Amino acid sequence: MQQNIIRIEATPIFMSGNAEIGGVPVSGKLSGMIVEIETAAGITGHGFTAITDEEVTAAVIKTVVAPNLIGMDAIQREAIIERLYWLLTPRGQTGYASHAISAIDIALWDIAGKATGLPVWKLLGGAREEVMHYTTFGFPSLDDEQLAHAARTLVKQGHKRIKMLVGFHAMARRDQGRSLDSVIRQDARRVRAVREAVGDEAEIYIDANCGLDHYHALRLAQWLKECDIAFFEEPIVDNDPHKLADLRRQIAVPVAAGQSEGQLFRFRDMLMNNAVDVLQPNVCVCGGFSAGLRVASLARAFGVPIDNGGTFPYQNMHLHAGVANGGMVEFHVAVTDICHQLFIGLPEHSGESVIMSSKAGLGFELNKDALQEFARGPFSQGHGKA
Ligand SMILES: [Mg+2]
Repeated sequence: MQQNIIRIEATPIFMSGNAEIGGVPVSGKLSGMIVEIETAAGITGHGFTAITDEEVTAAVIKTVVAPNLIGMDAIQREAIIERLYWLLTPRGQTGYASHAISAIDIALWDIAGKATGLPVWKLLGGAREEVMHYTTFGFPSLDDEQLAHAARTLVKQGHKRIKMLVGFHAMARRDQGRSLDSVIRQDARRVRAVREAVGDEAEIYIDANCGLDHYHALRLAQWLKECDIAFFEEPIVDNDPHKLADLRRQIAVPVAAGQSEGQLFRFRDMLMNNAVDVLQPNVCVCGGFSAGLRVASLARAFGVPIDNGGTFPYQNMHLHAGVANGGMVEFHVAVTDICHQLFIGLPEHSGESVIMSSKAGLGFELNKDALQEFARGPFSQGHGKA
């Protein structure tokens, strides 16, 4: 049966999440955008994007995307994605457009799953029913003692792969009295405190969110040599493939990147330049599952593993369960709380893994009350609830 698109809505949201790890409070804020696509056959799919300006991506959907997709068959995902490519990124641009395309594509796969009665991960290939994950907890708001206590608590609870933030906004705020040198000195101390706390019972990952320059990323990695870091994510500004490759050559720590990329050629450049040990497509950013599949195949051809960076595990787990070379997803403790506020029917996860649901589509639904509560911006009145 055809699934002609009759309605597309976009709702920008702003939320905060709270959790505690052994009594240590952690919190985070999140800008995101929810897309809902309804078909004439009565199916509604939902998609999501984040880590960008939510009101801009919602405006892109409302003003450019929606008028161009009404009437198209939602099952013909490649036709839709090709139209969106030429509509939004005709000269290979990355940025807001890729975020908007991601949310649309995820909603289309949700529709395809609901129309066929199959979960998205099975439509993507159904490689495995259980996806491993790592847990992001090491936020700048925690002092050394809290970090050590939280790390120990997580490990006791079964979380054997844990991630900390380093280089916190160091480049962006380098004129505000925090030299990059002082930032990485503090980072090294914090990571050592966590390694000391957990011994060799956990793998420790670090993530600089592109916050450092090449020199300071190199220095930090060298200082942390004895901490046995499992990977160093987005170590340097721009995710520059040449600089990442140079960094990789000089350090023993594996380098991971890719969560912020929105075009296939950017992933190709990372692989061609031997820039990463782990490629990290995020389906909420890279162009959805359709793009995620392509990136996974590309990575496979280069013999480079993929993991999820940039969190949103509940969408990304479908890709990693779907493809044979799928890897880990990221559970960020504050974002997980946000997801539980925003979505209904999320699968349970242990410290180590999450079992995939057999429910059709993404397997979880929007909490409409939460969506209304957290909607913001000029498009939150009227547009999102058309
Ligand atoms: Mg990251």
